[in-house]
Amino acid sequence: MVKRVALLGATGSIGRQAIEIVEAHPELELCAAASATTPLDDVDAPFKQVGGDLTELLERAQPDVVLNAVVGFAGIHATLWALDNGVDLALANKESLVAGGELARGRGRIIPVDSEHSALFQCLEGQAGVDTLVLTGSGGPFRGRTRDELADVTPEQALAHPTWQMGPKITIDSATLANKGLELIEAHFLFDVPYDRIEVVLQPTSIVHSLVRFRDGAALAHVGYPDMRVPISYALTYPERAATPLAPLDLTSLTLEFQAPDLETFPMLALAREAGEKGGTYPAAFNAANEVAVASFLAGRLPFLAIPEVTGDVLGRVEGAPARDLDDLVEADRVARRLAEEGMAVA
Ligand code: NDP
Ligand code: MG
Repeated sequence: MVKRVALLGATGSIGRQAIEIVEAHPELELCAAASATTPLDDVDAPFKQVGGDLTELLERAQPDVVLNAVVGFAGIHATLWALDNGVDLALANKESLVAGGELARGRGRIIPVDSEHSALFQCLEGQAGVDTLVLTGSGGPFRGRTRDELADVTPEQALAHPTWQMGPKITIDSATLANKGLELIEAHFLFDVPYDRIEVVLQPTSIVHSLVRFRDGAALAHVGYPDMRVPISYALTYPERAATPLAPLDLTSLTLEFQAPDLETFPMLALAREAGEKGGTYPAAFNAANEVAVASFLAGRLPFLAIPEVTGDVLGRVEGAPARDLDDLVEADRVARRLAEEGMAVA
């Protein structure tokens, strides 16, 4: 049976790779595509939309699966639409789950596209006796540097990721470790595991995509080359696991080293953990402050080390009320953005 895919963020890094996957599989069909401003002339889909309300596009297209590959909180409406309508959600847009939190949890089927979460999802399938989840990360381009060495880094340097080719926002998040922080919260909501049972470890070559430790001492890991076509294909063809054009993993050429993240030089991971543990709208505020700070850094208006300063300052000033509905989330996002802008104007 043909699966009809709505691809949101079709012109981005995930979006373009998803089109390649869909084109390679006769059982997948693009029924809708969306971008923010980039024209979709080259994309072949019956329903297309540049800008505007993504839920209107989804209503028209009535897809079997929504691949949400929009960047940032802007993806929240589509995420909640899929969950509300019982449509499978292949989720790359982690920001919507981080912000949506309790509102998104347990409401419908989410198949993660984020490589670590796809790995965890696969290691957890059919298992009992889970002890802890171990999220891996490369550590980004600045792993091993001191704070002093980060004072003057430019957007260009931060955009040079050692192992993954991704869009600009997530690449900066990888350099600050905010990405691992967002992924920590994402893992909490996806798998319903408390924060004190989710570890983060660095694995610089990005071959081990994450692990699950079990109570009998066993640990299952998911390994493979860093290539997003694998988790995208897995999510879109689940539970079939279709073939991809990837070369088999050459085991004898691998180096696998692990190290602890440096939380003092890269405070975003600790800030995310704190926001996650506080719950309510704190994760939404963490996400919003980070989005604003990253946009300013990319525009050359904010130093790299100010990204955690702005975010920490916002988290200290917001009141993390429970989020009862989408309006509460939109409001928490708006307030955190305003506080971040104010903080940057003062600095
Ligand atoms: P990109 O910046 O490359 O692409 C973002 C896409 O979203 C573009 O197509 C953009 O359109 C579209 N978009 C942005 N805002 C809107 C909106 N309001 N309405 C409709 N479309 C919108 O990002 P990535 O592909 O790198 O990342 C997408 C998501 O996937 C992020 O949440 C990221 O964290 C996550 N992710 C990405 C990975 C990667 O390898 N890239 C890995 C794991 C997760 P336009 O071209 O018009 O701007
Ligand atoms: Mg990831």
